[in-house]
Amino acid sequence: MALKLIVTGGAGYVGSVCTARLLEAGHEVVVVDDLSTGHADAVPDGARFVEGDAAEATASLLGEGFDGVLHFAAKSLVGESMTDPAKYWHGNVITSIRLLDAMRDHGTPRLVFSSTAATYGEPESSPIKETSPTRPTNTYGASKLAIDHAITSYARAHGLAAVSLRYFNVAGAYGSYGERHTTETHLIPLVLQVASGNREDVKIFGDDYPTDDGTAVRDYIHVVDLADAHLLALQHAVAGEHRVYNLGNGTGFSVQQVIETCREVTGHPIPAAVAPRRAGDPAVLVASSDRAREELGWKPERADLTGIVADAWRFAQERRNA
Ligand code: UDP
Repeated sequence: MALKLIVTGGAGYVGSVCTARLLEAGHEVVVVDDLSTGHADAVPDGARFVEGDAAEATASLLGEGFDGVLHFAAKSLVGESMTDPAKYWHGNVITSIRLLDAMRDHGTPRLVFSSTAATYGEPESSPIKETSPTRPTNTYGASKLAIDHAITSYARAHGLAAVSLRYFNVAGAYGSYGERHTTETHLIPLVLQVASGNREDVKIFGDDYPTDDGTAVRDYIHVVDLADAHLLALQHAVAGEHRVYNLGNGTGFSVQQVIETCREVTGHPIPAAVAPRRAGDPAVLVASSDRAREELGWKPERADLTGIVADAWRFAQERRNA
């Protein structure tokens, strides 16, 4: 069934890929983005684009009648969330509550929300399940968890069909849509900047973790697999319920392994230097996505790290030559 949808943050990395996949599946999409971190030319052709605040602009559109909202727009820099928490409590929490209010007022039936592995904090056990304790270690994760709690109560009280997807480490690209952060903090794009000649070396944040090679382990998931989970979430959302799903491949790779994979893919030596641990970084974050597999019928199709890095590398080279 073709749905009429609003995608907040559709000019950003995950939002643009998801918009492209929604359009391909035959849905009608309006992208709302304030372009604070997104790019107007990242909005896929075929989507209508409204520049504006995720809550305000969405509220003024909802009267047109929509089947759902996919809410990607957010502040997402962990370090910044610690030095400027107000930006996260206002930009993420207050904005999302205002969005929920507008959806309640207009009777908009479905919401898919971009939550995060950062809601769990330092895990007690691995892989991380949705039933694991949520004790975020940074304001970014706390802000996303607060929104998850708000969604649960709005779903129960107002009949909203809501799904939160907790992303682990998203990477890769899809066609002309990929990671284009002005302030880049993520490992794979930073390593690829070294291969592109835009950065001298990559810093390994800590080599004294209790892992096989001493560097931190993360679960890298292809952005297309992630985006496709949103389409399934829309189909499987149930009125009055808020369901939460972890999205990862269930396999961990260390920082060293990621750098080595980038060397193989790019053919560049990629010098790496060990630096102190980054505050608040857990040693290992790996998802159990059993619930998404069982309830959504989701299955990652692009789980291979070499393929993920190869797609990110192709995108980085195309942008450089554009
Ligand atoms: N990392 C690193 N050097 C960098 C950037 C990241 O060693 O320049 C490490 C980081 O400490 C973490 C992993 O790479 O263990 C993934 O970090 P990223 O910021 O990509 O994602 P996060 O896991 O923080 O969401």
